[in-house]
Amino acid sequence: MSNLSSRVTELSSRFSGRLLLPDEPAWDVARRVHNGFVDKRPALVAQCRGAADIALALRFARDAGLEIAVRGGGHNVGGRSTIDNGLMIDLSPMQYVYVDPIARKARAAGGTLWGQFNRETQVHGLATTGGVVSSTGVGGLTLGGGLGWLMPKHGMALDNVLGVEVVLADGSVVRATADEHPDLFWAVRGGGGNFGVASSFEFRLHEVGPTVNGGLVAWPIDRARDVLKLYRDLARDATDDLMLVAALITGPDAATKLVAIAAGHFGESAAAEKALKRIKSFGQPAMDAMGPLPYTDLNAMLDASYPSGARNYWKSHFCDELTEGAIEAIVDAYMRCPSPLGQIVIEHFHGAATRVPPTDTAYALRSNGFNVLVLSQWKDAAGDATGSAWARESYASLARFVGPNRYLNYLDQDDVGERVLAAAYGPNLRRLQVIKQKYDPDNVFHHNVNIPPRA
Ligand SMILES: Cc1cc2nc3c(=O)[nH]c(=O)nc-3n(C[C@H](O)[C@H](O)[C@H](O)COP(=O)(O)OP(=O)(O)OC[C@H]3O[C@@H](n4cnc5c(N)ncnc54)[C@H](O)[C@@H]3O)c2cc1C
Repeated sequence: MSNLSSRVTELSSRFSGRLLLPDEPAWDVARRVHNGFVDKRPALVAQCRGAADIALALRFARDAGLEIAVRGGGHNVGGRSTIDNGLMIDLSPMQYVYVDPIARKARAAGGTLWGQFNRETQVHGLATTGGVVSSTGVGGLTLGGGLGWLMPKHGMALDNVLGVEVVLADGSVVRATADEHPDLFWAVRGGGGNFGVASSFEFRLHEVGPTVNGGLVAWPIDRARDVLKLYRDLARDATDDLMLVAALITGPDAATKLVAIAAGHFGESAAAEKALKRIKSFGQPAMDAMGPLPYTDLNAMLDASYPSGARNYWKSHFCDELTEGAIEAIVDAYMRCPSPLGQIVIEHFHGAATRVPPTDTAYALRSNGFNVLVLSQWKDAAGDATGSAWARESYASLARFVGPNRYLNYLDQDDVGERVLAAAYGPNLRRLQVIKQKYDPDNVFHHNVNIPPRA
């Protein structure tokens, strides 16, 4: 028996979840993440059932000299939640949501997915800002920002966090709130997984739905320039009730290129109807799936466009304005997209999420503007070279239209180095380094967009 497996046998008497070594079929399932382009082979997967298991796994990894990665929902495009030859702390067994409808709060375990969160909170007609694809993890998305349909009205996901239970590098368990470890509370809201394992989150909830207004309208690609100009005008006029996303996509036949606007309106029905009519009545749509629908459906409407196991390579940047030149470059880039699964997505930032001062939380991207994401996605390994080259070349062609900021949660595995840190953490980087030095001086949590500790 190898040294590692004898240590694992010893650990298993104290561990309540599952410990998976590479010779077990379940290991081969557990090691995989959403992005099929990522293929890493951990020495051990520790499937944790609670904070106690996480603490044990952390101490075990340190004693055994293993690097660690922490898996929440496994959606990180850079594959930061899995690792070669290290220990994957897998939170997927930790999926629960407790709702307190009177206090309008919910507690979610660190491995919960947004689909489950929305289902449980919507039982009470409540919700908070979460990801637009239901299989994305609450953990990674919230720690890195969290943009979603409710962002203009209620801020980023992390703006709704009231407290986080964190398992620190030494295995101790602390609560981070405005009153307890306030420096850690500031840092985890935007510092990604750099400070510890978030075993649970407490969120503020808002009255939403259950029926809301929204959906998607798409037009033939030859209208792309006009539709993106409409999108820009809609964005300029948008109230906090309206969230807008534009996308260049391929239709369900996997052949027809389309331009689409997706929207969610969370205000009065009359105002929603008026706002959405501007979209629905534009030109001659090829497809109109916009109107009243359950909030949970709005949050699952895009799921099929992001199949688990598809190969992904992303490049994104933030631009303050969608100029004519930027629109031209976006459309030109999309016309060269080699795969029907590839997209260019433009997310509008405004409202509550942009009114929070950039230094109030570690999350600094608080500008009004547009997040432009070149989302290269394809099915087979044969497409690896063309898929990643398209994203790189498209991104380069957009470079002169974008500003200095980048959204942390969309950074890919090769987005590393000081310029990327400055783009992701902005004016908060120095303070984050000092807090990292206090809570994780040995940089145990470095499989993320890593903040080097600095006194
Ligand atoms: C299909 C798809 C749709 C997406 N949609 C959105 C969206 O609507 N809005 C948005 O803002 N982003 C979105 N994203 C990006 C998403 O926010 C990031 O990929 C995020 O990292 C996913 O979190 P996760 O827990 O699923 O990922 P993971 O890959 O499990 O984790 C991502 C990072 O966070 C760390 N981490 C995760 N959970 C914890 C935890 N509990 N404690 C400590 N560290 C943890 C991991 O170690 C890793 O570094 C989307 C991504 C995909 C692939």
